[in-house]
Amino acid sequence: MATLRLEIITAERKMFDEQINMVVAPGSEGVMGILPHHTPLLTALTYGELQIKKEGEDDQFVAIGGGFMEVQPDHVVVLADAAEYAEEIDVARAEEARRRAEESLAKAREEGIDFARAEAALRRSAIRIKVAERRRRRERADQRSRPSSS
Ligand code: ATP
Repeated sequence: MATLRLEIITAERKMFDEQINMVVAPGSEGVMGILPHHTPLLTALTYGELQIKKEGEDDQFVAIGGGFMEVQPDHVVVLADAAEYAEEIDVARAEEARRRAEESLAKAREEGIDFARAEAALRRSAIRIKVAERRRRRERADQRSRPSSS
């Protein structure tokens, strides 16, 4: 199976650099699936979930907080404003961020709340909760498929 090199870089770290089979990324104009030998392109990314497919492994999910993606036929570079693996996400923090954003949006009409900012915060928190939830679901499924020790 053909592979391409995927790098995911944030201001803080290079979080991923491996040969993979496919990446599905949250492009600003829609979700994009990138396979090896793709036409070169440069695109903005929005808040969303990035999915990494690698033969013989479970798909990995990363919450992306916007950025850019450069595609070359055998190499994809994601420069993310923020990025977390499912297992790194602090769900309580994301739920608190969602609560704050919802509160701001509810008050937006009466007070001088920055609507776009509150909406962006709501989307970021919702993506984090969704990506973290995927991991929890997988863990539950793994537990069910494992033979009981008793
Ligand atoms: P908060 O209001 O909770 O700070 P935010 O959406 O404003 O959230 P960002 O500006 O997107 O946060 O990210 C700031 C940094 O904090 C980034 O490094 C990001 O990876 C990290 N981060 C934000 N929320 C979480 C979370 N729930 N779990 C783990 N890391 C997080």
